[in-house]
Amino acid sequence: NPRHQYRGRFAPSPTGPLHFGSLVTALASYLEARSRHGQWLIRIEDLDPLRDPPEATGQILHSLDAHGLTSDEPVFFQSHRQEAYQAATDYLLEKGLAYRCNCSRKQLRANAGRHPQHCRSIAPTRPNPPFAVRFALHEEVAHWHDLLLGPQQQIVRAEIDDPVILRKEGFFAYQLAVVVDDIEQGITDVVRGSDLIDMTAQQQQIYRALNATPPSWLHIPVVVNEQGQKLSKQNHAPALDDRTPVNNLYSALCSLNQKPPSALLSGSVENLLQWGCRHWNRQAVN
Ligand code: GLU
Repeated sequence: NPRHQYRGRFAPSPTGPLHFGSLVTALASYLEARSRHGQWLIRIEDLDPLRDPPEATGQILHSLDAHGLTSDEPVFFQSHRQEAYQAATDYLLEKGLAYRCNCSRKQLRANAGRHPQHCRSIAPTRPNPPFAVRFALHEEVAHWHDLLLGPQQQIVRAEIDDPVILRKEGFFAYQLAVVVDDIEQGITDVVRGSDLIDMTAQQQQIYRALNATPPSWLHIPVVVNEQGQKLSKQNHAPALDDRTPVNNLYSALCSLNQKPPSALLSGSVENLLQWGCRHWNRQAVN
C-alpha cells in the first residue's frame, strides 16, 4: 500500500527569500524523509498575493536547488488550489463544521484578537458579505505525540480560538489550505518549525472534519538570533547566500546538532547531504 510509504514535505510561505532558519527546517524534513526511505516534496504556500512578493517563489526554489534540496514530485503551488479549498469550505459549511463571521477588526481587537463568542449562533441570519468563514472547533484537551518533543497536551477552546479558513478579502487561510493539501498529497509525516506547534491540535480537528487521518508530527526548534527572536523576514534575517551552499548546509547540520566532520566543508553538496542522510539522528536535535 503506497499510503504506508513515508511522504514528507517542506512548505514555505513565500514572504521573502529563504533564510538560515528556513534552511534548517527544510534540511531536517529532507533528512528525516530520506533516512526513512520516503518521498520528499516541496509545496509553495502562496496564499496571499497582498503579502507575498512575486519574486520570492523563484528565489526560494532557486535556493533549495542550489542546496541540493529538490522535490521528488513537481512543486505544488497553493495558488492553483482555489477550487479544492472552496470545495472543502462548502463541505464544512454544509456539515455545520464552519460558519460565517463578519466580526470587524475592531470587535476582534476589543477581544484581545480572539473571536468573541456570538457568531456561531447568529451565523445563519447574517448572509451579507464581506464575511470570513471560521472553522468551528470543539472544546477539548488534545493529547498527541511529537516525534522529537514527546507527549503533547493542548487545550482547544471552542469559538474563541476558531480559526479563519476563508478571509474576508476572499483569500483562503493557511489553517485550511495546509490540511487540504497535506491530505491531497498523501503526506504521512509533517516536519516543521516549532513556531507552528500550537496550531497542531486545531489542524488535527480539521483533518477529522474532512474525514482524514492526521499525519505524524515532528517540530524542530526554531533558530533564533542574538536577541532570542525567531529568524524571520520581520526580524530582517538575511537571505541565504546561494553561492556558499556547502557552508550553509554544514552550519545547518551543526544547528541541528548532528556534529558533522569538518572535512565535509571541502566536499560537495551531494557529499554533505549523503553524510547527513546516513548519520541523521533526530534525537540529537535540541
Ligand atoms: N507555510 C508555513 C510557513 O512557512 C509552514 C506550513 C507547515 O509546515 O505546516 O510557516
